[in-house]
Amino acid sequence: MSDQQKPMGRMDHGKTACGRIVMSRWDQPERSDNEADRQRFIRDVHRSGFIQTTQVRYEGDQLPDWVGQSHCQDLNCRCQEFLNRA
Ligand SMILES: [Zn+2]
Repeated sequence: MSDQQKPMGRMDHGKTACGRIVMSRWDQPERSDNEADRQRFIRDVHRSGFIQTTQVRYEGDQLPDWVGQSHCQDLNCRCQEFLNRA
């Protein structure tokens, strides 16, 4: 983690087992409904069978790939579903 880059906030992701993003949201602590929205998001991620992670974003950093953008070699991985649909 670099201390030269400016933090931009926190994102919550729902990811496949190989780490590709399926759904994503910015944490918006200034919004009164943020915590409820976050809990709803996390529930959705779990209900959909994906993995929930939280990432602090820094200026100039890179997001992991979205599903559909690339895929892993595991034919049983759920990122494959998104390729077929595209
Ligand atoms: Zn995969």
